[in-house]
Amino acid sequence: MRFAVLPGDGIGPEITAATIAVLDTVDARLGLRLQYQEHEVGLAALKRVGTTTPEGVIAACRAADGIILGPVSHSEYPTRAEGGINISAELRVVLDLYANIRPARSRQGLPHYGRTGMDLVIVRENTEGFYSDRNMHWGVGEFMPTPDLALSVRKITAEGSRRIARAAFDLAARRERKKVTAVHKVNVIKISEALFLREVRAVAQEFPGIAYEEQLIDSMAALLVRDAERFDVVVTTNMFGDILSDEASELSGSLGLAGAINASATHCMAQAQHGSAPDIAGQDKANPVSLILSAAMLLDWLARQAPGREGFVAAARAIEAAVDALLADPARRTPDLGGPLGTRAYTAALCEEIGRRLVA
Ligand code: NAD
Repeated sequence: MRFAVLPGDGIGPEITAATIAVLDTVDARLGLRLQYQEHEVGLAALKRVGTTTPEGVIAACRAADGIILGPVSHSEYPTRAEGGINISAELRVVLDLYANIRPARSRQGLPHYGRTGMDLVIVRENTEGFYSDRNMHWGVGEFMPTPDLALSVRKITAEGSRRIARAAFDLAARRERKKVTAVHKVNVIKISEALFLREVRAVAQEFPGIAYEEQLIDSMAALLVRDAERFDVVVTTNMFGDILSDEASELSGSLGLAGAINASATHCMAQAQHGSAPDIAGQDKANPVSLILSAAMLLDWLARQAPGREGFVAAARAIEAAVDALLADPARRTPDLGGPLGTRAYTAALCEEIGRRLVA
């Protein structure tokens, strides 16, 4: 199993090294035969070769069985013409990684900030919507007819809505509560949101065993604070999903805990939900859990792609259980959660815990 590994910027290299250490630990116990091919991207590559996305990196990602991408400091990048290519957006578009799956779960023993605990997954459409830097076939969906007038195009397609709805219902069918909530703003954005809902409702008909409901985006933001435990799988368009998933993760305990994958039928990329945290980069303070849990989700995704990969599922469960065990213990947390362990010490403790679980 070959993984393309792109450490990225800021805390990216630190949390990527932690993630590889964890994968090495499960590999040593379960014989998953993981191989890694590391590629330099981001500001280091810009300095060395003049582009944040050197030639060949995208092709290597396309050819790999899975991708692990550290966060990138794309707001610091120069223009595309000057070599500043946001590889996160680029890979989502080029590999058509339309499903961004972002779980948020509160943990036993760890304070959460919402009024209730939660165990939900936000299924975010990842290739269209308001993201005008990437929602066109050619050019960008944003332009200025005059110096004082800026327009932005939001794209919603029936196919894009249908396939993200299917991803959400498929996921809900594998979960205990079997419920999907579609989040929208059809009362204001009457045409494109109606198209999105039309397709989600049609897919809901294909899944009679899954409860289906709809929620306006603004009230959803409040309900996540007030009563998040009522949600199971939440499906929504690109920007709503981006914002709601950060809110949900933070309310569940910390944005640093939130794993995520970006997937199509044939490719999957593990990517932390948070950014590159330049304020703490290189200080051994970053919480690596988000990228580690993203890698566990990648293992789960790979297990569903072909039979006979039970070892990948066992590895993912062992990683999640070990993360939960450390989170329950204030002495084994990272500084963002008030704990004493730096990134390296935390990773060593996590690997030890995983090793113990896989031997038992
Ligand atoms: P951020 O998520 O990087 O940081 C927000 C705050 O959370 C900071 O105080 C940071 O120290 C803290 N934080 C984030 N991750 C943490 C972790 N794992 N452990 C401990 N603390 C953590 O958001 P930002 O500051 O708005 O953005 C910084 C850069 O990241 C920008 O260039 C932005 O464009 C980029 N970004 C990248 C991605 C991505 O690669 N997917 C996503 C969001 C932002």
